[in-house]
Amino acid sequence: MHILVTNDDGVQAPGLVALAQEMRKIATVTVFAPDRNWSASGHVKTLERPLRVHETTLVDGSSAFASDGAPSDCVALPLLGFVEKVDLVVSGINPFSNIGHDITYSGTVTAAMEAVISGVPGIAFSLASQDKPANIPADYGPAAQIARVIVERVIAEGLPKDTLLNVNIPYLSVEAVKGFVITRQGLRVYRDALDKRVDPRGRPYYWIGGEAPTGVNEEGTDVGALAEGYVSITPLQLDLTNYKAMDTLKKWVF
Ligand code: MN
Repeated sequence: MHILVTNDDGVQAPGLVALAQEMRKIATVTVFAPDRNWSASGHVKTLERPLRVHETTLVDGSSAFASDGAPSDCVALPLLGFVEKVDLVVSGINPFSNIGHDITYSGTVTAAMEAVISGVPGIAFSLASQDKPANIPADYGPAAQIARVIVERVIAEGLPKDTLLNVNIPYLSVEAVKGFVITRQGLRVYRDALDKRVDPRGRPYYWIGGEAPTGVNEEGTDVGALAEGYVSITPLQLDLTNYKAMDTLKKWVF
């Protein structure tokens, strides 16, 4: 079993090290991740410039590959032959949950999508550490242990074809987590606000600011499961077709 570990927060992010350490207990691991933070970069394929790869050392002394590409590039390169055959791609552990519409922005999730495009199972792991006090660093240990439990299950069962898992883990101790629940994608409520400022030369520039997003706390969804203290496992597919809308649109006369 050869597991590729990547993320969207950059190769030195603590969540990636914790995930790689747990994966090493059950498989051969290659770490191949972006050399910088690509959070909220969406699904990227870098075609207009070359991609550079360099070897680096993680804080635990293990070696890793870092690339100036996006998270999805960091999956594509290994799966295209940079390393020997990969059986599973795991991405994370992202410091914040990726629920509802977040998955369309998330580099953590799109890395797992890239795996599925190449015919390799992919799992994205995110930790709801926004729920911890802001002044203490996140402890990824419990989430990494939970990730290993899920990976072991995936290895044993196999994933349905064209399926990736979007896993969100509550910020709790392993003992305090209530269990695992299979969920559907819920609804995020974004509270973005335009923050217009003026640079020293009098020209306006803009930030997408505002408050942190909330969600519609509905049972059966990723949002609801996290709020109740469960690990949320959402099976995702890349077919984004709105089949119900097809019936409506087929009635249009062009
Ligand atoms: Mn991230």
